[in-house]
Amino acid sequence: MSLAGEMKQAVAAEKKNLVAIGRFIHGNPELGLNEFNAAEKLKAYLAALGYEVTAPYAGMKTAFRAVLKNGAAKPKIAVFAEYDALNGIGHACGHNLIATTALAAAAGMAGTRKYWKGQFEIIGTPAEEELAGKVRMIGKNAFSHLDCALMAHPHWRSVIGTGSTANRRATVSFYGKASHAAGDPQSGINALDAAILFFNGINSLRQHLREDARVHGIITNGGQACNVIPEFAEARIAVRSFDEDYLEVLRKRVRNCAVSAAKAIGARATVTWEKYYYFSYKVNQTLDEVLAGSLAEAGIFVARGTGRDERASLDMANVSRLLPAAHPFFGITPKKVGKVALHSEEFLRYADSDAGYDAAVSTGAGMALAAAKLFGDVRLLAKIKAEFGRG
Ligand SMILES: [Zn+2]
Ligand SMILES: [Zn+2]
Repeated sequence: MSLAGEMKQAVAAEKKNLVAIGRFIHGNPELGLNEFNAAEKLKAYLAALGYEVTAPYAGMKTAFRAVLKNGAAKPKIAVFAEYDALNGIGHACGHNLIATTALAAAAGMAGTRKYWKGQFEIIGTPAEEELAGKVRMIGKNAFSHLDCALMAHPHWRSVIGTGSTANRRATVSFYGKASHAAGDPQSGINALDAAILFFNGINSLRQHLREDARVHGIITNGGQACNVIPEFAEARIAVRSFDEDYLEVLRKRVRNCAVSAAKAIGARATVTWEKYYYFSYKVNQTLDEVLAGSLAEAGIFVARGTGRDERASLDMANVSRLLPAAHPFFGITPKKVGKVALHSEEFLRYADSDAGYDAAVSTGAGMALAAAKLFGDVRLLAKIKAEFGRG
């Protein structure tokens, strides 16, 4: 039998177990850095396949590294797993299916050892949704030993090479002065009004921003009681663009909106940008081509993106700036339904559907096939690295 045939067979033999773990994670959503049950399931499965599991990893309790050494210590190729849920809406981003793809790839690689030589790894990467988990892990050198990395995310369509936007988030605090809202409003300074003016300022900017810019936020604190002039208000704001230089322009403009809104009413504003943030994605065409071909052999047909299709941000983008990394999306919704938003109730249901698990398992087989091909073709890996080096 061919490598592709044996790969699909090795993964199919494990399908029942893979789906059971995916369903368990979907049914037991855990927030970033608290994915203890999910991480335990993944680690136990990988250890049973013969992977050497290190956990915690990179200083994170729910991160892990599982290594399958096969004849040679180089090259080192990893498939990443995510398994964190969203606050309030569970696995509406389908990270349970990302975990399923990674375990399917792990089973495929373990079952086809005679075809490849090298070091294959599954790396468990927590807290993608809120805390940029991979960015923190990069700070601990968690991926610098790798030659390349693969990860696949569920979506309403199958596509590779979409790119993703750079994204920075800030907390904006407004300081005013409390007073009785009816008895003595003239001696107060309304911090909530400053926050509202801030958002109005941003809305006035929109017409003049570049098409790929995104500025969006929420008011997290608008005062405590309606009979007290709020002395404090707070907002969370995010700016995004494909272009990191333009992101700096957006940051300045957001800051100007905050400071001038506060000044207009005699309040004070501070803008605190988060230390961890998302870069824009560096697409590797050569790696994407190899992976797209392998996914097709496994029954997943991905369209090729333009590198500027995806306005959301990914912590995998930071990995893509460190080493060649592919991040395809695989469709889990029926074609006739068309676009289904991620982070919606509808997507939550598809993330636990038979079709979703079928696609995840096939995607895992496709990623393993790509890894096995790269292990067997040093020139192809060199070509991928050369493209990465060209920037
Ligand atoms: Zn998400
Ligand atoms: Zn996601």
